Amino acid sequence: GAERTKNVLILMSDTGGGHRASAEAIRDAFRMEFGDEYRIFVKDVWKEYTGWPLNDMERSYKFMVKHVQLWKVAFHSTSPRWIHSVYLAAIAAYYAKEVEAGLMEYKPDIIISVHPLMQHIPLWVLKWQGLQKKVIFVTVITDLNTCHPTWFHPGVNRCYCPSQEVAKRALLDGLEESQIRVFGLPIRPTFARAVLSKDQLREELEMDPDLPAVLLMGGGEGMGPVKETGRALGETLFDKELGKPIGQLIIICGRNKNLASTLQTDEWKIPVKVRGFETQMEKWMGACDCIITKAGPGTIAEALIRGLPIILNDYIPGQEKGNVPYVVDNGAGVFTRSSKETARIVAEWFSTKTDELKMMSENALKLAQPEAVFDIVKDIHDLACQRGPLANIPYMLTSSFTSLI
Ligand code: UDP
Repeated sequence: GAERTKNVLILMSDTGGGHRASAEAIRDAFRMEFGDEYRIFVKDVWKEYTGWPLNDMERSYKFMVKHVQLWKVAFHSTSPRWIHSVYLAAIAAYYAKEVEAGLMEYKPDIIISVHPLMQHIPLWVLKWQGLQKKVIFVTVITDLNTCHPTWFHPGVNRCYCPSQEVAKRALLDGLEESQIRVFGLPIRPTFARAVLSKDQLREELEMDPDLPAVLLMGGGEGMGPVKETGRALGETLFDKELGKPIGQLIIICGRNKNLASTLQTDEWKIPVKVRGFETQMEKWMGACDCIITKAGPGTIAEALIRGLPIILNDYIPGQEKGNVPYVVDNGAGVFTRSSKETARIVAEWFSTKTDELKMMSENALKLAQPEAVFDIVKDIHDLACQRGPLANIPYMLTSSFTSLI
C-alpha cells in the first residue's frame, strides 16, 4: 500500500566543513536510493533554537581550534563520561523546551546525528516525550579514529563507525555489538558516482592540460600552514635551470577570506589558482595528482576515493590526531609540518619519484570506501522497515517533562 512519506531529521553543526558535508552526503544518498519515500531536513537545531553556548558553537569552535592549547584542554577534560553528562544534562534542562520545539517542528520518524554533541539532548527529549521506542535515532560518526566519547550513546538504535578503530572504542564505551555497524565515512555521492576524466576536468577548470597538479587546502575553514606551503611550492615547483615550471598549484582556501585575498595578490612563477569555498570538490580533486591538507576526515576520505596521495601538514588536537597514522601507516601519504619539506616531497613526486606517487595512489584507492554512504542509508531504511508502517507518531505539543517544571 501507499505509505506516507517518512521524515528524516539530520542534526549537524557548521563547526568545520566536515559535518555539513556528511549531512549532505546522507541526504543525497537517501534521495538517490529512495526518492520520495523520505523527506529530509538538515538542521542545526542548536543554532536555531537555543541560546549561548549551544547557538554559538561555530564561533567558539573556530576560536578554540585557532588557539590549539585551549581546544586540547577542552577535548581531553570533557572526555570522562560523568563530566560531559553532567554538563550536557544542565544544558538540556535549561533549553529543554526550545530544543524540544525545534525537534518536534519536523515530526521526525528518524533522527540522524552527525555531531558529537547531538546525542544526549535529543535522546532525552525523546525519552520525555515517551517516543524513544517510536522514533529511530542513529549516530553517524565523522571522525576516523581518535573521536570524542560524546559520540557514543548507549540509547541509539545504530552507531555507524567509519573504521574498526572507532568501533572498538564504541564497544569499550558500552555500546552493544548489535548497535554498531562499520561501513566507512559517508562521502557525497558525487564522489562515488561521477565518472570523471582528468583531461576533461582540467579543460573545464581551465587548468594546464599537461603539468602535474598539486591541490593545497585546509578543511572548510582554510586552516593550517596553507600560506607558507603555497609560497614554498611556488619556488620549488619552478625549475631554475630549465626556466620553466614542473608542476601547477591549486589552492582552495574554503571560508578563509583573508587567506584567499593574500594569496591572490602574490606573484607566482608557476601556474596557480587561488579559490575560496568550492562546492564541487570532486572536480578539483579529480583534476589533481596529489593533495596537501590538514588531517580532516572528510578531505582525507574524499582524497582516498580519488586516489590522491596525501601530504598531511597539520591536525586538530584530539579528534584529528589519529587520522595521521591512518593515512601514513596504510601507505597513502606522509606527515610533515614543514612547508619546505612538503614542497620538496611534491617536487620529487613530480620528477624523480613518480613511482612512489603511483604506489601511494594505489594504496589510497585500496582504503577508499565510496559506497559507505549508500550502505548507511540502506541500513537505516531496513531499520525503518522493521518498525513496520510508521504510524503517525504522537508528538505532544507540550512535553510531560516541561509541564513538570
Ligand atoms: N570543503 C568544500 N569546499 C571547500 C573546502 C572544503 O566543500 O572549499 C569540504 C571538503 O570537501 C570536506 C569538508 O569541507 O568535505 C572538510 O571536512 P574535513 O573533515 O576535512 O575538515 P573540517 O573542515 O571539518 O575541519
